[in-house]
Amino acid sequence: MPSLLVTNDDGVHAPGLAALEAALAELGDVYVLAPEREQSACGHALTLHRPLRVDRLGERRFAVNGTPSDCVNLGVLGFLPERPVLVVAGVNHGTNLGDDVTYSGTVSAAMEGTLLGVPAVAVSLAPDGDLAVAAELARLIALRVLVTGLPKKTLLNVNVPAHPPRGIRLTRLGHRVYSEKIVEQTDPRGRTHYWIGAGEAQWEELQGTDMGALHEGYVSITPLHLDLTDHRAVDALADFGRSLDAQYRPTARKRARSE
Ligand code: MN
Repeated sequence: MPSLLVTNDDGVHAPGLAALEAALAELGDVYVLAPEREQSACGHALTLHRPLRVDRLGERRFAVNGTPSDCVNLGVLGFLPERPVLVVAGVNHGTNLGDDVTYSGTVSAAMEGTLLGVPAVAVSLAPDGDLAVAAELARLIALRVLVTGLPKKTLLNVNVPAHPPRGIRLTRLGHRVYSEKIVEQTDPRGRTHYWIGAGEAQWEELQGTDMGALHEGYVSITPLHLDLTDHRAVDALADFGRSLDAQYRPTARKRARSE
């Protein structure tokens, strides 16, 4: 049986993790390597300045005092008896849509798998959604990925709506409208503190996006690519780069002038 690595950012005791673990069991030996406590919104953080410890909770179940990306790093680079053929992160409690994927520990865990050359899927479920539905979808998608593979440096970001899905749509990331303000409050001792990330998210456009699919009751699958280069901008900003270079190197500037 091939090895599968399952992790999350809600912590090793989260129900979404157990649901995923159970759903994938028929596809291979499922190893769970997950943060010992919740790490939501930790992004792609790695723990480099203190040692990682792994507690065995079951035959193939481990808690790590680190981040989701730490877990994937450990799992893929030698902690497991063999290299996993697939990394699945989730089922996250709450969606990971659009620009928010850059904050998500769940999506980052899948990114880490992809960076290390293992196909990876992140699965998130809208609040009040049915974990059994999300876990079954994860099994279906994982099986398809195992059979057909994924393009290079590409991972799948899956989001499941709260109500029974009407179907599955392949989408692009939506973009948030950042209109919210920080919340400033005063504590009982008169000191000021701040809350960020409060308030309802607004979205630029729904058509064709992950948010749009969920809004209409569909499961969203967004392929994400890990080359963050803006290839169009490399061309569009060519003059920008050349003139900066000329400004930075006076001799190059003289040469450019005389040309
Ligand atoms: Mn989470």
